[in-house]
Amino acid sequence: MHPPILGELKAGTTQRHLIKLPGAALANDEPRPVISVAGAKPGPVLFVNGGVHGGEYPAVEAVIRLGKTLDPKKISGTVILMPVLNLPAFRTRTPFVCPIDNVNPNRVFPGDPHGSYSEQMTHACINEFVVHADAYVDLHGGDIPEALVPFVICRAGNGEVAKKSKAIAMAFGLRYVLTLSKPVKPDKGQSSYAGAADKGIPAILAEAGGVGQMQDEAIELLVDGVVNVMGHLGMIDDANFEFQISKSETNSKSKANKRARSAVATTKTSEADTAASTLLTKFEWLYTKSTGVWYPKVAPGDSVREGEQIGTVGDLFGDTLEEIVSPVNGIVLFLTINPSVLEKGLLMGIGAE
Ligand SMILES: [Zn+2]
Repeated sequence: MHPPILGELKAGTTQRHLIKLPGAALANDEPRPVISVAGAKPGPVLFVNGGVHGGEYPAVEAVIRLGKTLDPKKISGTVILMPVLNLPAFRTRTPFVCPIDNVNPNRVFPGDPHGSYSEQMTHACINEFVVHADAYVDLHGGDIPEALVPFVICRAGNGEVAKKSKAIAMAFGLRYVLTLSKPVKPDKGQSSYAGAADKGIPAILAEAGGVGQMQDEAIELLVDGVVNVMGHLGMIDDANFEFQISKSETNSKSKANKRARSAVATTKTSEADTAASTLLTKFEWLYTKSTGVWYPKVAPGDSVREGEQIGTVGDLFGDTLEEIVSPVNGIVLFLTINPSVLEKGLLMGIGAE
């Protein structure tokens, strides 16, 4: 039941596709690269994409690496990989939005076939790929002006899809897992994972890396996370495959590549390596009231207390316009690192229990 838009897939092979997505607004797009890794044995279909935000490069590179390293002979089921969904943003180094309609695609899932460019694009993503999968992993990171500590988001709740999504989020293996019951920033639609969950597909959004760079550590976390999810879904034969990368591993690059290449690692994980993720259920986003210069006093991963002053916004004379205070006890998950901020500009996101 793989996506019909890919045509016939041959078991035990990796195929490269150039896909024209449906939608009148997308008619003149360059075709999007998609890689299918069709396992030798039957099993679940996992859809993974990067580049919903075109400036989140480690996510894009993680998908490319998976396509180069996953061995279809050792996989049960099929992995479908799309390195960049929001290709116009990637080509133009545009953060947050798609430059064609200035819409943030991650606010308009599951999209609209008659909407703007981004709405047609997310509609095609959901209907041509996500609904034909058994699980969906959307890879992100901090965008060009953002730094973050790696985390996974999924839908909260007691329904079957929410439970499966949470299990996938935990299996991914990042330090923080956020389960959310409503959009952080409601818009015409919602985020990818929520749009997919509404269609009955278990889904997560994983974030690592940022600031417009290609950090190797972030790429490895995302590659290993997807391999961990494949293990969780029963797509990798060996029950003893290494389930989580050790964060202190200095030579993790070659190891991660080797593991993904073989799709089965031989070392069993020690108890110490599988420190459970910290579960968070609230996501507070902080904005500046004023246009000015942003001076954060915290870094991604820092703990903050309710009422603590965590930064200031000043004017170009050097006077303080605003003190930014944490509304909760929590962890700084992402942070705007560029000093220039506009009125109502996003400063940071704090995850809380
Ligand atoms: Zn993103």
